[in-house]
Amino acid sequence: MYENRPNTDMEKSAAPFFRITVPPTHFVPRKIQIFPQHHLKNTHKTHKIDIRIAHCDMGDETLCFIPATSHNRKGEWIMNFLVETSARHVHVTQEDLETLFGKGYELTKKKDLSQPGQFACNEKVTIVGPKKEMSASILGPVRPETQIELSLTDARSIGVTAPVRESGDIAGSGACKLVGPAGEVELKEGVIAAKRHIHATPEDAEKLGVKDKDVVSVKVDTDGRSLVFGDVIVRVSPKYALAMHIDTDESNAAGCAGTVYGEIVK
Ligand SMILES: [Zn+2]
Repeated sequence: MYENRPNTDMEKSAAPFFRITVPPTHFVPRKIQIFPQHHLKNTHKTHKIDIRIAHCDMGDETLCFIPATSHNRKGEWIMNFLVETSARHVHVTQEDLETLFGKGYELTKKKDLSQPGQFACNEKVTIVGPKKEMSASILGPVRPETQIELSLTDARSIGVTAPVRESGDIAGSGACKLVGPAGEVELKEGVIAAKRHIHATPEDAEKLGVKDKDVVSVKVDTDGRSLVFGDVIVRVSPKYALAMHIDTDESNAAGCAGTVYGEIVK
């Protein structure tokens, strides 16, 4: 009934992948139990199986591309997601960008980020606090408000306040100065430590069993520093791609290295 074979297209990936076909009646909820463990004998010496659904198409049949990497104690399927670490960065308004880099300046893309339309820029600015200063990249595109996202370690190091906030919620947040090659911007607010969050499309959210603004706990299995993150806010939009974002403090606390996946735990 189920087909399971290594997917050659994905062999270059660090994780072994399997492609399975399930009948249309099998909608894919957060947890399903349809994968006989013996199929994975070649790659798993124990009965612990951790199956991550990388891609699903609903149709006459459901094709799932599954990187199977570690374990799930109950042998259940769990829809996991990539946990990405965001280093400190700055979002700028067009006006502030021009103050920092010169009139008419436009951001230049260094690389695309996981969220559609978002990109890391070549431009860097200096964030200046009362105690110290540090460099940070700008993330594009430009936004309606300038926002500086620091880890709490960064904030303490340069001597600024960074309340834990959702992106965009900057009223009464920390102050700092930004310095670019063409000028400076003094900000009365805008410095935050980003509240950890999951970006999900409405389809992803349904499969995960969550909705917009839900607050969940996420378990991250790492080598020697596994951690359950509480207070993770779920953000749902068709413009997103499924991923969880944490900052460098959180990433270090969990010993995240390489590709890391998270699992919602109740
Ligand atoms: Zn994010």
